[in-house]
Amino acid sequence: MPNNTTDAKDWDHEDSEKLYGVSRWSKGYFSIGSKGDLLATPDHHQPNLTLNIQEIVEEMTETGIKFPAVIRFHDILRSQVEMLNTTFRRVIADAEYTGQYFGVFPIKVNQMREVVEEIVNAGEKFNYGLEAGSKPELMAALAYNTNKDSLTILNGYKDEEYFRLALLGQQIGRNIIIVIEKFNELKTLVQIAKEMGVTPVIGLRSKLMVKGKGKWKNSSGERAKFGLSYVEMLHAVDYLKQEGFASSIQLLHFHIGSQLTDIRSIKDAIQEASMVYMNLVKYGVPLQYIDVGGGLAVDYDGSQSTNNSSCNYSTEEYILDIVYGIKQTCDLNDIPHPNIVSESGRAITAHHSCVVAKVIGEIKPNTTQYDTSVAADEHILITNMREITQELTSENYQEMYNDLVSIKEQTVSAFNLGVLSLKDMAKMETLYWQTLEQINQHLIGEEFVPEQLMKIPSLLSSQYLVNFSVFQSTIDSWAIKQVLPIVPINRLSEKPTKIASLVDITCDSDGKIDHFIEANGSSNTLPLHELKDGEDYHIGIFLTGAYQDVMGDMHNLFGRLNEVHIYSYDDDPKDYYIEEVVKGSAMGDVLSTMQYSSEILANNIKKEIDKRVSKGQIKPRVGVQLTDFYENCLSSYTYLTDDKERRNRWISR
Ligand SMILES: *Cc1c(COP(=O)(O)O)cnc(C)c1O
Repeated sequence: MPNNTTDAKDWDHEDSEKLYGVSRWSKGYFSIGSKGDLLATPDHHQPNLTLNIQEIVEEMTETGIKFPAVIRFHDILRSQVEMLNTTFRRVIADAEYTGQYFGVFPIKVNQMREVVEEIVNAGEKFNYGLEAGSKPELMAALAYNTNKDSLTILNGYKDEEYFRLALLGQQIGRNIIIVIEKFNELKTLVQIAKEMGVTPVIGLRSKLMVKGKGKWKNSSGERAKFGLSYVEMLHAVDYLKQEGFASSIQLLHFHIGSQLTDIRSIKDAIQEASMVYMNLVKYGVPLQYIDVGGGLAVDYDGSQSTNNSSCNYSTEEYILDIVYGIKQTCDLNDIPHPNIVSESGRAITAHHSCVVAKVIGEIKPNTTQYDTSVAADEHILITNMREITQELTSENYQEMYNDLVSIKEQTVSAFNLGVLSLKDMAKMETLYWQTLEQINQHLIGEEFVPEQLMKIPSLLSSQYLVNFSVFQSTIDSWAIKQVLPIVPINRLSEKPTKIASLVDITCDSDGKIDHFIEANGSSNTLPLHELKDGEDYHIGIFLTGAYQDVMGDMHNLFGRLNEVHIYSYDDDPKDYYIEEVVKGSAMGDVLSTMQYSSEILANNIKKEIDKRVSKGQIKPRVGVQLTDFYENCLSSYTYLTDDKERRNRWISR
């Protein structure tokens, strides 16, 4: 917690690094520069090519790109794809493992075309493919996974149309593997395959008995929603033999959940799955691949622990456990090493994008003060409250806190009974917050703080109002208490003297973020800098590239954010260029998703205005101005825009 009593000067970027833990969660992609700006090092081939995020924000501001905005670092995506593939290849070579690695990117983690295209392109030389879990994702995968040597893995529940699309893919030369999630799917598949005259390549998803750890642990185990039990697996094999498709079964699949926090569950799953593989091979099934699914976790809070937002292993360790685990079972049983497929999505995409939003205000619980001087006819409760404030010492503050709370409760009862006036209550509130503030001063630096009093600092903390929507941009922080790293974009060589939680601009009291990373654990508040008049204060919400990017919803009709796509480029004076700007939602766009027509909306308003103009209630010139204003709003950004700017627009017409 920042201590208000020390001088703001004895603080530099290294203190900020300790406070926000950037190097612990950023995998080297982000850091704090000596001048206090946040930096990005997006290309792992060019460790000296560092971009200044504050400069990117300034360039965006100058070119009129409004915040909140998503910044996408395409080089980070490429680096992550390359590192996963090269590590698998290196470990496979070192282990003298005879199978190969065929990774696939699960489209559901980030379906944005530009993201999928970049991943496919970066993965081309590794024959890195795509995974789809629904018909629309399959449609995209069919069109975009054009490398003839990479795989297209199909998961999820399937109907006839899904199978037809899959077999169409096979007919145009894609390496489609259809993974069977439930036994009945096989019957439909066999029927359609016969009808289309195509022999499918089939994978079987095992439920596995082992359970992952973390939020998604129910993706496996006997009550899992996906996969075949051991009984069903044997039935599936026998059924396919009988239908003449015995040679089709080439892949064994499992996925025990996303964000697996504990390496032990991965080791256990590999052990169980490789035993299933060995048994099926001995049973005569011509398996060629083990697909270990997703689950490779991201250390969002940088604690390297089994917290839900962390993990206790590295990517390298994960890969070592997979390769050596499978190898051991195969070698002991004298069967060939299968090719390995993995479906990491979170670990590939999380780091590449962040949301930059502006803090537009501060909400303090105790900002305005009322005159608390003694009044002649003052009620005894108010007098008592004032005495607490006066008598408070470092010896008695706990006792005084108890009295304070009890008197406060009594004043509320007295007010409800008509004994106290609104003016009395205003005095009471002022005294109450002043006293809490005093107690808080006594707590600073105390080694032991009584449990009751621990909530005082956060009670006194501010809420920073941020121009963004939790439901659009950080849905998991609301839904599953996911911790995401949040760091100011500049002023990082300056001591943050405020502690605050964040609230968004939705009309929903759940629209807030109140769990943050702290050096030793988590906290309800985040140290931030005091807002300065006339100076923008931007914060970055990091690691939002997996799921968060695409799972956001339309709560309050805020819609999608403006986006910039950044490429690093050594020959540019700023070492980067903005390759593309994708416009976020305008008001007319989000309204049309709810079936409103911009034309009808504008017409209705115009009619009302015209009516009043003809009655002489509105001047014609003002009428035109109002009509234009409403129409222009339909094409403007849903998030809050700078009032200055809006006023200029109004005046300029
Ligand atoms: C969601 C999912 C993935 C991706 O998991 P991550 O943990 O994001 O890597 C992979 N495979 C299947 C079957 C999935 O459902």
